[in-house]
Amino acid sequence: MEYSGSVFVLGTSSAFAEKDRFFSSYLIISGNQSILFDCGDGISTAFAKYDINSASIDGILISHLHSDHYCGLPSLLTRMKIENRSQLLKIFCYEEDISYLKGFLSNSYIFLDRLGFDVHFEGFYNGHIISVQPGFTILPFENTHLDKYKDYNTGGEYSLNSSSFVFELKSKFICLSGDIGSINDLQFSSQFKDCTVISEISHVKIDEILDFVTKNKLENCYLSHYENRVREAVSASGILDNFSNVRFLSEGEEIILR
Ligand SMILES: [Zn+2]
Repeated sequence: MEYSGSVFVLGTSSAFAEKDRFFSSYLIISGNQSILFDCGDGISTAFAKYDINSASIDGILISHLHSDHYCGLPSLLTRMKIENRSQLLKIFCYEEDISYLKGFLSNSYIFLDRLGFDVHFEGFYNGHIISVQPGFTILPFENTHLDKYKDYNTGGEYSLNSSSFVFELKSKFICLSGDIGSINDLQFSSQFKDCTVISEISHVKIDEILDFVTKNKLENCYLSHYENRVREAVSASGILDNFSNVRFLSEGEEIILR
């Protein structure tokens, strides 16, 4: 079957940093475009470890503003400058967070006019398709991960948004949960035919994920954003033995979509 795209796994860690692992991050590749999904601190080290030239990525997508999902941005842009990147970099984030992220970069002494390449911030809204190129689109949909913060007043300086995302790569669908609040947040992905799901397993339990997989007859579900102790406990329980379609992701592997 024809190749549609791939997901290279840079990191699968939860917010709890662990030896030899990286915070959850993926390279989504299709056609001649490559989009980095989330960039917590350590992302530059992950690029070095997996020998990824920072000039090879076209955009960065930020799912929400927890530090393990975006705080590697300044060091990654620094790496791009040192590697003499010249082509445009797009940063996809919530429209309401553009000013904050620009300030975050300038407060890290990343002055965009000194980088040697253009940076375009492309604001998105939940429910509105982001078009990367024909045959490569991203649909953000709101989840409940940050509902616990809803009583905090940010003064309008940044949002309290968190999304999950469905990528369409040449008519193949893959859902990246990002961080979610409950298993119900994944239900949106069931609207997409034969959707492969990468689910986090820090804020939802393995039993809930397996129920979801069974009810929605998922062909492939990958587990990510986990602590070592969670993977060890799930593996030791044997609960996955009857689910050949569900397994943990590891750093450095690639999922090919056909
Ligand atoms: Zn989070």
